[in-house]
Amino acid sequence: MSFSQLMVSEPILRALTDAGYSRPTPIQEQSIPLVLSRKDLLACAQTGTGKTAGFAIPVLQLLQEDKLSGKGQAGIKVLVLTPTRELAIQVEESFRSYGNYLGFRSITIFGGVSQVPQVQALQKGVDILIATPGRLLDLASQNLISFSDLRYFVLDEADRMLDMGFIHDVKKVLKLIPAKRQSLFFSATMPPEIRKLADQILHAPESIAV
Ligand code: AMP
Repeated sequence: MSFSQLMVSEPILRALTDAGYSRPTPIQEQSIPLVLSRKDLLACAQTGTGKTAGFAIPVLQLLQEDKLSGKGQAGIKVLVLTPTRELAIQVEESFRSYGNYLGFRSITIFGGVSQVPQVQALQKGVDILIATPGRLLDLASQNLISFSDLRYFVLDEADRMLDMGFIHDVKKVLKLIPAKRQSLFFSATMPPEIRKLADQILHAPESIAV
């Protein structure tokens, strides 16, 4: 199996070649076609499996499709929630790398640092926002973020969100974003509480596990 057999578009294929990726990992083989068919996804996957590219590649491609079909809105189109600042930075680097030839703007938002540069970056315009829940809610409560154009929502490492006590914040974020969206849910483990959260977030999801 190759990325081009998975119908990954030419600008993304070029970026993957630059990154030295010769073929998709098992999770990518499963997730890319499902996300490209605009289905919700429940994925059980550990770190190190290539899960980040498993959602970043097809989401970038859907953004490109939307733009070509005239549905490219001005506001934030993708929200990825991560439990930690480190993961947010890694995920943003992945979007930047795979989307190198597409021209979408991505930023990270997390706590423990000044909000000023984050707010300035938001005001310049952002397509893809990768955030930890606390600072995101903080900025949203100051009316500094609009989610009206949001179409894609990714919850990364959901079980770690639970372990770190962020589930309540995640649920608050869900109340702020449009109900009409495509949602992708990633977790290394699926305890009952996580499954319940997935049921609340996802609509008729496809499940994959690696
Ligand atoms: P992740 O599971 O998303 O944390 O990814 C683990 C590592 O695998 C990261 O360093 C990625 O850059 C790398 N990676 C992801 N997909 C591929 C691929 N198809 N080929 C080679 N490396 C990959």
